[in-house]
Amino acid sequence: MQERLQEYRKNERQEKIMDKKQIEEMIDLAVRQLDYSYAPYSNFHVGAALLAKNGTYYTGCNIENAGYTATNCAERTAFFKAVSEGVKEFQAICIVGGKDGVITEYAAPCGVCRQVMMEFCNPETFQIILAVSKDKYDVFTLKELLPLGFGPANLA
Ligand SMILES: [Zn+2]
Repeated sequence: MQERLQEYRKNERQEKIMDKKQIEEMIDLAVRQLDYSYAPYSNFHVGAALLAKNGTYYTGCNIENAGYTATNCAERTAFFKAVSEGVKEFQAICIVGGKDGVITEYAAPCGVCRQVMMEFCNPETFQIILAVSKDKYDVFTLKELLPLGFGPANLA
């Protein structure tokens, strides 16, 4: 039992380590999504690149709507694309964004997106990469951005 716990902790630590090259790749993918952003109302363009545990990337952009509430964030677009294809295990997401697609500061995920992450990701290990450029980024765990989150475990 103790051994298994140690093995689990070891795996958990390994999951936390994101290779710099992979982070840069994810930043590139997220930035490319800014071109697809549909944001005629806010002009705030957001791009996301979600890395599934199987190694596949799912990208997303924000998609606004004249009826505002029907708007979907880039992060949720990426998650829903993955889940709709049967993928439900994720390692990390990179998010970039800015007014008119110009990135000047971090575009942190909104509360609704954090909650969607909570549904599918381990808050202790899931990595959220917020980037301005390949030289300026930070990596957070979901737990850091959503402390005391309510998730599937609460209903088990
Ligand atoms: Zn959101």
